[in-house]
Amino acid sequence: MLNEPIKTSIFDLFKIGPGPSSSHTIGPMKAAYDFLQRANALAAIQSLETPQIMIHLYGSLSATGKGHGTDRAVIAGLLGWLPDTCEPTAFTALLKNETDTYKTQVADSQVQLTAKSIVFEKKRYESPHPNTLVFKLISANEIVLEEEYYSVGGGFIQRKGEDLSIENDKMPKYAFTTMKELKEHLLKNKITLTDLMIANEEALTGLSRKEIFQKIDDILEAMHKAVKRGLRHKGLLPGTIKLRRKAPVLYEQAKNLASTSDSFMIFLNAYCMAASEENAAGNIVVTAPTSGASGVIPGVFFLLRNHYHYDKQRLREGMLAAAAVGFLIKHNASISGAEMGCMGEIGSASAMAAAMLAYCAGKSIEIVEAAAEIAIEHHLGMTCDPIGGYVQIPCIERNAMGAIKAYNAYLLSSSGNASAQKISLDSVIKVMRATGRDMSKKYKETSQAGLALSATEC
Ligand code: SF4
Repeated sequence: MLNEPIKTSIFDLFKIGPGPSSSHTIGPMKAAYDFLQRANALAAIQSLETPQIMIHLYGSLSATGKGHGTDRAVIAGLLGWLPDTCEPTAFTALLKNETDTYKTQVADSQVQLTAKSIVFEKKRYESPHPNTLVFKLISANEIVLEEEYYSVGGGFIQRKGEDLSIENDKMPKYAFTTMKELKEHLLKNKITLTDLMIANEEALTGLSRKEIFQKIDDILEAMHKAVKRGLRHKGLLPGTIKLRRKAPVLYEQAKNLASTSDSFMIFLNAYCMAASEENAAGNIVVTAPTSGASGVIPGVFFLLRNHYHYDKQRLREGMLAAAAVGFLIKHNASISGAEMGCMGEIGSASAMAAAMLAYCAGKSIEIVEAAAEIAIEHHLGMTCDPIGGYVQIPCIERNAMGAIKAYNAYLLSSSGNASAQKISLDSVIKVMRATGRDMSKKYKETSQAGLALSATEC
């Protein structure tokens, strides 16, 4: 996998969908939807008798799946809903009561789904990924179809032995697996990072340059809306923590302090927390690269659009720089909290945002690389320990902190000679991978250690 060229589409990295967690919500919804299609294909050639569907959740999906909405996500997918088109209010209303019952159609048969269809497995299960789901279609008390899926972070899924997120037969125009190779292409072909990313996306997806920019605009619009809604929405977030939304308060404070030097940071905090609170509420956000980290890049983008007044094209290009960094991390380490702890989510988002800031400011590729490297370097080892399994504490403030670090990484990279940077982006991603492997499982989205233990009830 590491030697294969990067074949991820920009639109697999940035996906519109309901919060609060791409690996616990978007990925499982897509896996359930895929299983439904396979069940339908089987039922077309084999009749079913009193069919049932059972879903078994393992690892971190079992440990924090309740707070992260995995149960709702698998029901939604089995009802034929997909993350980018499902209605958020209907989604958050799923399984409000233990006795809620849903019916899904498998060929000619109706299958009943309830909370009891989902088993949060406590026992250890040998699987290649900590976020594992097993679906079973049962007919006349016999299992007639069984599929195993892995939710590998950022809403990407794999079915046992098969990556469902990529078009295996298509190759990028400029194949690369590292920043070093990417820079060699830029130098050798005398092209910009924007042109390289567009050429690869065209080759992988068949979309035209115009269509790619249109889709980026749609993503940016969804990010903008998430921030705007979050700045307006007040009150408590769902769940037992009873956490009150803070973004609208920060926004008012920033406006009142507009003439002071504090206001810049308070505005940025407000924007990041606004999108992140929308995510915690299960509303529509953009994975950037995950839902848990869906406040960092939208917050930075909102700042660049509304304070720096950057034009549409410059912002699109900033998103391409962010995507390039996201690809490198996903390919050579991971963007999954269940594999890397929070450095995989907020660390990746911060590095991507730092690259976006530098590229939008017209900096060289060396500065873009240095900005991303510095941002990751200062997230190494950061654990994932959400209280109660909710993507709220520390997640929401962590999005604001990730953006502030991204901004500082951009400033640090822009002062001095970036080519004298001692640590390359490729090296720090390798370190990230090794650190993630060494990190105790307790700190990888299980809520079994760290902050999750220090405060049982907030
Ligand atoms: S602590 Fe970080 S990785 Fe864990 S759920 Fe929160 S944002 Fe995601």
